[in-house]
Amino acid sequence: MTGPLEDSYTKIQEWLKENTKRFAFKKLEREIVTSGVCVECGACVENCPADALTGDYSSGKYVPTLTGKCIACGICYANCPRTYFYRDTLLGNVRSAWKARAVDRNESAQDGGAVTAILSNMLNTGRIDAAVVVQGDPDKPWMPIAKIAGSAKEVAKSSGSIYTHAPIVQGVVQAFKEGAKKIAVVGTSCNVDAVHNMEASPSGPIKGIKGAEAIQFGLFCTKSYDYPGLTKFLADKGVDIKDVKRFAIAGGKMVVEHSAGEAEWKVGELEEFSSSSCAYCHDMNSKNADISCGNVGSDEGWTTLLLMTERGEKIFKQAVKAKVIEAEPIDEKAIRAVDNLARFKAARWYKMKAH
Ligand SMILES: Cc1cc2nc3c(=O)[nH]c(=O)nc-3n(C[C@H](O)[C@H](O)[C@H](O)COP(=O)(O)OP(=O)(O)OC[C@H]3O[C@@H](n4cnc5c(N)ncnc54)[C@H](O)[C@@H]3O)c2cc1C
Repeated sequence: MTGPLEDSYTKIQEWLKENTKRFAFKKLEREIVTSGVCVECGACVENCPADALTGDYSSGKYVPTLTGKCIACGICYANCPRTYFYRDTLLGNVRSAWKARAVDRNESAQDGGAVTAILSNMLNTGRIDAAVVVQGDPDKPWMPIAKIAGSAKEVAKSSGSIYTHAPIVQGVVQAFKEGAKKIAVVGTSCNVDAVHNMEASPSGPIKGIKGAEAIQFGLFCTKSYDYPGLTKFLADKGVDIKDVKRFAIAGGKMVVEHSAGEAEWKVGELEEFSSSSCAYCHDMNSKNADISCGNVGSDEGWTTLLLMTERGEKIFKQAVKAKVIEAEPIDEKAIRAVDNLARFKAARWYKMKAH
């Protein structure tokens, strides 16, 4: 039978094939149905163009069930009200996506050193009075503390990633107390959201200062770790956190360079030491930031930059023009890798059982 709806399904299948990854019903079943997230609306069953799904009431509640042959067209996953599917839902308002690296890359940079290079350019050109960045506490190695950097030299001392929640708001408030009017701040989505509220909401204290700005660099983040837990995990593996020179998380592994060599573990092994608040977070790339920055989507030695606001776009263009970073647009395959990580994080909280 053909009709307008069937024609529409054919067009949707073409669109999905060209524009996104198409998920088979098995993924929907695993992520939404068996996890207890399903709202029993039947959007998957009713819209299956292959008539492969049935709403099964035998358990007393409506359960979408595969009773025919799934053609993996992706329509069920795309139309479910509980999946995170479209790019704007996953990543927010991405104006453009780039890979970038510092022309003069600092050795301790985490990836391409683009964050440090752009902040340095903003300080050198007077675009900001200070940058709020993060360093390890000199008395407690790898315990993050906020630093107010007033020069490129000071910003450079803070390159690299510390995988623990950092008190950046402390640094932001202090910077304004010390008389700064325009600042930039680096943080993961949770902490950037605090600064975003302070700058954008009617009750935000930065909004109340005429001409004040807090430009936000959001770091991609899937998890951060509690300091005592991370210290214990390493100690159990024979590594004193004081001897660690560098942490890196990429491709599902944590790699630790320390004075006696290098060690790596699957991030799953550190699960019990992750911060409890991360279980509730489904914003991988800091949707509220001006520029979102991470490594997924770029080759080693480069930073992926998502330009999220007009202000972020201008700052990025100034850094390119000043030749402090080199940058290339990333292709659709690369940005899908970012989508996938964001989708993984967004759906992860469904694993928490409400009952
Ligand atoms: C907790 C955490 C989890 C992350 N998870 C991922 C991930 O899953 N996938 C991914 O692609 N990228 C992730 N990143 C981002 C990645 O590690 C790099 O920060 C990013 O690619 C920028 O690289 P860069 O070389 O341009 O930065 P750099 O030039 O090295 O600058 C890094 C900046 O980050 C600041 N910083 C370091 N630690 C913190 C912190 N805890 N809080 C706030 N600011 C901090 C530094 O002060 C510095 O200004 C994570 C970062 C953090 C802190």
